[in-house]
This record gives sequence, structure tokens and C-alpha cells, in this order.
Amino acid sequence: MIIIMEPNATAQQIETVVKALENKGFKTVLNHGDVMTVIAAIGDKRLIEPHSFQSYEGVRSVKIIQEPYKLASREGKQEDTVIEFSNGVRIGGLEKPVMIAGPCCVEKDLDGLLQVAEAAKEMGCQFLRGGAFKPRTSPYDFQGLEEKALEYLAIAREKTGLLVVTELMDTLDLDMVSQYADVIQIGARNMQNFKLLKAVGKCDKPVILKRGAAATIREFLLAAEHIMYNGNDKVILCERGIKGVDNTSTRNTLDVAAIPVIKKYSHLPIIIDPSHGTGRRYLIEPMAKAGLIVGAHGVMMEVHHDPENASSDGAQSLSIPMFKDIAKRLNKLIGRIDYDNKHSMSMV
Ligand code: PEP
Ligand code: MN
Repeated sequence: MIIIMEPNATAQQIETVVKALENKGFKTVLNHGDVMTVIAAIGDKRLIEPHSFQSYEGVRSVKIIQEPYKLASREGKQEDTVIEFSNGVRIGGLEKPVMIAGPCCVEKDLDGLLQVAEAAKEMGCQFLRGGAFKPRTSPYDFQGLEEKALEYLAIAREKTGLLVVTELMDTLDLDMVSQYADVIQIGARNMQNFKLLKAVGKCDKPVILKRGAAATIREFLLAAEHIMYNGNDKVILCERGIKGVDNTSTRNTLDVAAIPVIKKYSHLPIIIDPSHGTGRRYLIEPMAKAGLIVGAHGVMMEVHHDPENASSDGAQSLSIPMFKDIAKRLNKLIGRIDYDNKHSMSMV
């Protein structure tokens, strides 16, 4: 349920409504908009008569949210969420789509990482990605350099000004990862690791939440709800492909339609990852373009200074020259997108 307060509602009136809800065991989340305050109330609706709140002073209207995800739903918050970083980068809504590039994992060769970071900066990316803790299918594969990798990412940020995105796999590492990361990534395999979602929900870093390989959109949005319910509303969703009927020609099936579907049902920013979505280098450009055309707020791409010798995901990693070439065309496309169309974008 959401309670929309009158534009001139006083702090006291808002407080009275919040107290009444909390006395009934409801959790409240306040959204102070430019014009009015909206109170999201989450709890067992059998314990109250929602419309009784209509009679409180300062209340304009009461609305029942039908979707199971309350805070993430567009029913509850119509305007798009735009997440702003300290350096002015903004993601979401009608902002220009962002680009995130970097290696699958950070390796021992700091110089290689810096080459990728410099290229990303040169091509207009806002974020550098790189795994320090890697979720690998096989225990025999490279597992990540952990804190050393985080230090390398911080050096790359220092040199380029790019914001750092890196994955968190374990709540025990949250403090360490938060010290280095600008954005914490929750990977596909952990989309329903509820303890992890709760932990990042309690921190103040923006979170990129990747869609689980077998997750429905409802489950995806409910995973985002876990983060928001715990207090963090800076959630960026990421479509990265799901298991399909033929994952021999592609690694996953990139669900491009999920972008406009999610924009219909949620106000959260949504980006696309064509690297994990396809697992094939040659598919990055067409699928990045597809994602942008249907309204993604950003594209995440894996780029390596020496893909043939990458410690993980070499087959889907772009070389630096390939990346530069593709980024040039993506920038051109981004420049031609019509930002007036909310749920999908069209070309001008
Ligand atoms: C990644 O982005 O590094 C990654 C492991 O992706 P996913 O969780 O989507 O598989
Ligand atoms: Mn990868």
C-alpha cells in the first residue's frame, strides 16, 4: 500500500501516519518527492483497513499495490529512479545510457588492466568492471585475486576517474569490497542469495543486481525488493541472459524483451550485458545495439588486453581494438536515441 500525502502536508501529519502504520506492525519507507511525500507501507494488510488512512489529516490518497514487489514496482513509484554518483554520472530514466567495460576478472598484470581502463575512458565509458571474487563453475578455474584485485581497480580509478564495479560473493567481504567499489555487483548465481541481498540492502553503495540464469522477471524484481526492503533503493538491474533451449550456439539466451517489460513494471534502471548473455565476441555489438534500442539504461561489456590468454571468459571478451571500434558505433547510436520515449527508445 502507498499513502500519497498532500503537497502541503506537514512533517507532523506525515509522522502521525507513519506512527499509526508502525503501530500496526508495518514497515514504512518514505519517498520525499519534489512536490509531495509518498509513504510506502509494507506489512500484513489484513491487520488494517487501508482506506481508513484516507481520513488522516494531510493524506491525499491511498493506493493498494497489487504487485508482490512493492518498492520496486512502478505502481508504487511512477517516476523513474535515477542514480547519481559523486562525479555527476547519472543512470536511469531519460539519462543518456552509460557504458561499463573491463575484464571478466582482474589478473596479476596491472598494466593490462590499465590499458583496458584507459581505452574505456577514451571511448566515453563511465564505469570500469572487473571481478576480484569470481563465481566459477569449476573449482579448478581461476577464483580471483581478491583484495589485490580491488587494489588494482582502485589504481585504475585513480588514473582514469572511472567508477569501479566489482562483484561481492560473500557477506564476510562486504566491508572490504565497499572500501574499493563504487558499485557492488551481485552476480546471476547469487540473485537469490537472500543473506547477501539483505547485506547489500543495509549498505549505502549502489548495487548492480544481475538476473539469475533461470529467474523469471517476477523473481528478479522480488530479489531487487529484498535489497530495497532493507533500506537501499539504489538498485540497477542487469539482464544477462537466461537458460534457453539452445545454449550451444550462444552461452545463454539474452532476453532483450525483459528490458521494456521491466521498464513497464519497475522504475529501476536496467542495463544489458551482452557478454554473458551470448558468450560470443561477435555477438556483443549486435546485442548491445538491440539492448540500447529497446531502452536499456546502459551496456556492460567484457574487454581484455589479451583475450586469448584471459583467465576467464576469453571467448566473449573483446580485444581493445575491437572494443574501441564497437564503442565508437555504440556512441553514435546513443547519440541518435530519442529520449522522449519512456519505455523503449526510438531513433531520431
Ligand atoms: C560477471 O559479470 O562477472 C559475471 C560473473 O556475470 P554473471 O553473474 O551474469 O554470470
Ligand atoms: Mn565473465
